[in-house]
Amino acid sequence: MINTEIFTSTNTAQRLLNDYDSGSLSHAYLIIGDKGSGKFTLATAFAQLILCEDPQDGKPCGRCACCSYFESFDSHPNVTVLTTGNKASIGVKEIREMSENVFTAPYMGSKKIYIIKEAEKLTPQAQNAMLKLIEEPPEYAVFFLLASTRYSMLSTVISRCRLLNMTPYPKHVLEGIIRDKAPETDSATSAALISRAQGNPGRLLSSISKDDSIRTQVVTSVEALLTQNMEAVLDSVNFIDSRESAISFVFTLNEIMRDVSVYKLEENASHIINTDLEELIARVAQSTSLKKIVQFLDDIRDTHKMLTGNVTYQLCVKSLLLKW
Ligand SMILES: [Zn+2]
Repeated sequence: MINTEIFTSTNTAQRLLNDYDSGSLSHAYLIIGDKGSGKFTLATAFAQLILCEDPQDGKPCGRCACCSYFESFDSHPNVTVLTTGNKASIGVKEIREMSENVFTAPYMGSKKIYIIKEAEKLTPQAQNAMLKLIEEPPEYAVFFLLASTRYSMLSTVISRCRLLNMTPYPKHVLEGIIRDKAPETDSATSAALISRAQGNPGRLLSSISKDDSIRTQVVTSVEALLTQNMEAVLDSVNFIDSRESAISFVFTLNEIMRDVSVYKLEENASHIINTDLEELIARVAQSTSLKKIVQFLDDIRDTHKMLTGNVTYQLCVKSLLLKW
């Protein structure tokens, strides 16, 4: 995505830009949005703008020493990114290490930016350590806490941050991504991809770039559910080998079943998201009662919640499908 679109295409970016333009940047932002919604891209773009030595019309100049760091290395010495790495959570040790860096004044530029990805995975102790940092930060520090949900965040942390919710990217931006990444895409496929992405550029990119194998497996599962072939149903989830693939499977199943409920209610396909699966969605809707679909959507939601905890993920998905 080109920079100008990051800065102008969403209300979230517009709010950050207003803070920047009016000189009222907060020391801490909590940005909430689904996976792929562009939180990190937005935080990084703003880090560049904040550090740029010669910003022009609310955008980084792209030429100064700071901007050339971003252009060449996708980063800058004054920007620290904290992630879970391979771990399930971010602990207090990582925040203490980061705080040593926070209290060392910048050796170039006037600001230091800290981006914490998956902030919902900060342990309560880590959040308390984080709280100390954002309560009395050095003048030059700006924190971006990025999270997919605010519910595991301590209210004390939330109240110290300026809260921003990611808003969906408009259609023309997603069309631009398709033109850039997959120029050979025909217009029907492009429309189906945009419909499924629901304004989420990460979801669009993963549909374009990867084989979409999980979605194919979900379609296989749904077909097997329709024919009541339980052996095939259980086989269809044998590929699940990680919590992440289990979550993607359940997420995709939820989108398809949500479409089934919409089709059932409206008796037509005009508001479904998975436009390329219209025929399958119609068949499921016609062969199932609304009550059963609504119950199954509840089961999906419960399973999704369970998958974020400590459960055997493949078994968890199998038990979900057996509830159909
Ligand atoms: Zn610049």
